[in-house]
Amino acid sequence: MGSKGLLIVISGPSGTGKGTICKALLNRNDFWLSISATTRTPRKGEQHGREYYFLDKDEFERRISSKDFLEYAKVYENYYGTPKSEVLEKLEKGKDVILEIDIQGGLEVKKAYDEAILIFIIPPSIDELTNRIINRGTETEESLRIRLNSAKSEIKCSKKYNYVVVNDTVENAVNKIESIIISEKCKIDKVKEDIDNEFLNN
Ligand code: 5GP
Repeated sequence: MGSKGLLIVISGPSGTGKGTICKALLNRNDFWLSISATTRTPRKGEQHGREYYFLDKDEFERRISSKDFLEYAKVYENYYGTPKSEVLEKLEKGKDVILEIDIQGGLEVKKAYDEAILIFIIPPSIDELTNRIINRGTETEESLRIRLNSAKSEIKCSKKYNYVVVNDTVENAVNKIESIIISEKCKIDKVKEDIDNEFLNN
């Protein structure tokens, strides 16, 4: 039975460890991680075409006008966007696609593509979240304050997501996400066309 792939959106406040979770998820499964475009400057060690497609503002805005993005958002003064054509192509080919994007982007994806599954990663506690952001070592005091405040308002939006996964350990979080994906694939809406084709229309 060959159906379309699942579009899985993974979001959460910065410092929740969603990057680590996505890496572990990709190591263990044959999923495809969409590479976003952004106008922010690359951090040390980041490469064009690996972490992001790093574009300048004019090029990003040109692509907005050409409707090249499934969604885009302004996060901390920079644009971030999900390239549309590659994602839709992979889904058509039956590949499961992971989008690691911010919450406003996740909600936009749901509007554009109703079957998307939105998973919100949440830290075990507010203290844990603060420590994780500080330990990343890339934040100034001001950007830490901005990220914490924005984390709190984002956590409010978790209720608009389909699932919430607490990141107590990476192993637990990845197990839970895999279970969600397996259940979603077994849902009747996902398989009824295949059942008709395979067993009933002959
Ligand atoms: P960072 O600059 O730390 O890599 O990412 C900042 C935020 O932008 C994160 O919350 C990340 O999930 C989000 N982000 C990354 N790519 C996209 C995207 O394509 N669209 C949206 N809406 N947000 C994104």
